[in-house]
Amino acid sequence: MSVPSDIEVARAAKMRPVVEIGAKLGIPADALYSYGPNIAKLASGFVDGLGDRPDGKLILVTAITPTPAGEGKTTTTVGLGDGLNRIGKKAAICLREPSLGPCFGVKGGAAGGGYAQVVPMEQINLHFTGDFHAIGSAHNLLSALLDNHIYWGNALDIDTRRVTWRRVMDMNDRALRGIVTSLGGAANGFPREDGFDITVASEVMAIFCLAKDLKDLEARLGRIIVGHTRSRKPVTAKDLKADGPMTVLLKDAFMPNLVQTLENNPAFVHGGPFANIAHGCNSVMATKTALKLADYVVTEAGFGADLGAEKFFDIKCRKAGLKPVAAVIVATVRALKMHGGVAKEDLGRENVAALKKGLANLGRHIRNVGQFGVQAVVAINRFVADAEAELQAVGDYCAEHGVEAQVCTHWADGGAGAEDLARKVVALADGGHSQFRTLYDDDVPLWEKMRTIATSIYGADDVIADKQVRDQFVQYQKGGYGHFPICVAKTQYSFSTDPALKGAPSHHVVPVRELRLSAGAEFLVAVCGDIMTMPGLPKVPAANAIRLDSDGQVEGLF
Ligand code: ADP
Ligand code: MG
Repeated sequence: MSVPSDIEVARAAKMRPVVEIGAKLGIPADALYSYGPNIAKLASGFVDGLGDRPDGKLILVTAITPTPAGEGKTTTTVGLGDGLNRIGKKAAICLREPSLGPCFGVKGGAAGGGYAQVVPMEQINLHFTGDFHAIGSAHNLLSALLDNHIYWGNALDIDTRRVTWRRVMDMNDRALRGIVTSLGGAANGFPREDGFDITVASEVMAIFCLAKDLKDLEARLGRIIVGHTRSRKPVTAKDLKADGPMTVLLKDAFMPNLVQTLENNPAFVHGGPFANIAHGCNSVMATKTALKLADYVVTEAGFGADLGAEKFFDIKCRKAGLKPVAAVIVATVRALKMHGGVAKEDLGRENVAALKKGLANLGRHIRNVGQFGVQAVVAINRFVADAEAELQAVGDYCAEHGVEAQVCTHWADGGAGAEDLARKVVALADGGHSQFRTLYDDDVPLWEKMRTIATSIYGADDVIADKQVRDQFVQYQKGGYGHFPICVAKTQYSFSTDPALKGAPSHHVVPVRELRLSAGAEFLVAVCGDIMTMPGLPKVPAANAIRLDSDGQVEGLF
């Protein structure tokens, strides 16, 4: 039997007009600002008027430590949303918007997979409602204003060697990682080293996703630090009068996007920050709006639970005052076998012994989610090759560790394959046993925050850093940023900072290489290892297979 590709499944979807999807949540047609028949933004007036309504229940979908293929968090978020609707619940999902970089690079799109997808898949994966364009434009406006300020006399005395604000583009293009700007003579300004990051790595993206409202957005944009003066004072976007026009560029993009799942259930797809240099969750705006409109809201955080869930809880929920009531930890037999030492080529073969070894990874994530006071259920995202004995071993392990596990087949069967998971999630969400708490309090010193994350989440013995880096912690602590949370940028492939260390490594040490202030996003990025802010394309990029067929339909997106 040949399995249809994600885009073939998506194309066969029987989509309903977006006004009908909105009506399921009680959104009047005139509050929807349509981008064609199946995509709309919610009008700001309508969203502002929701304030007094009670909130629905928030459910996080996270995962074990990923293997390069992705474990199916987005797919499970969509499947669970459909499953909840199938058992009669008023549920909506919240996802990040896909970036063009991965679409044309290695990973492909980010609209789910199989029979658990959001549609229209092509538009969502490509230009969608233009939000990323708006975010890139706002970011680059600040870059242009900065160089223009220097050109016209540099009244702020900006040290061109200490400019940290780069430029962005939504593309994987390693050629632009490091460049020299203003070449070509006096009319073009003062040459300096610069570079491009991918748009999703922009601080503007992180701010966009954390801001409560347009006023908060503008204030945060104003606090962005673009570099330093010759006397080492920070220069902000507000100093360059960039906050006003940047907010204007973002005003429409800031409203949440509404689309649907393959089963015609509501899905908010809005914002898309990186999960390394930023917090990796969809916008607070979309999540809060969804909570006002639905009884159950399912949302995804990027990477494994050590990064994604930790940041979702410690950054997004802390800042936005959200109180998640349940978490779903997605695990796959394949990934668990990899954590148990099986090579990628051998994953198709049954290997209960290796799987059992790899379960330590799942165990650590279960324990970790518990540290936030949130009750969890394990969703075993079933692949065709999974053996019964392997699935059973995961179930047994979970039972021994006091959490429920559920084999799900939403990838193959749509929401029907996630109904049992939905029932378990509802039981947790309605049970009232979750007592969400952050891992550390605001007033814990920055270094201690980093240590707490490393020791209690990563299983490390300690954190180390050169004196220069430790001085940065002291500086920011004294400089009035001590109350900010830490956003760790480390490999997603291991609890440690070594991507090759699978399973649940202990007694490792986490080296912090740098501490970077994101003053507008309101967190400090602790860089622990190489972080890629402008990915490159692989030797054979996905782009090679993407084209229009003879009927003008997109082929090769996945
Ligand atoms: P994540 O959100 O964890 O990165 P995704 O949900 O985007 O992962 O899934 C990654 C890829 O794996 C997608 O192409 C999806 O179609 C595929 N996938 C997910 N679940 C399954 C499954 N049960 N069987 C086969 N392929 C799957
Ligand atoms: Mg995903």
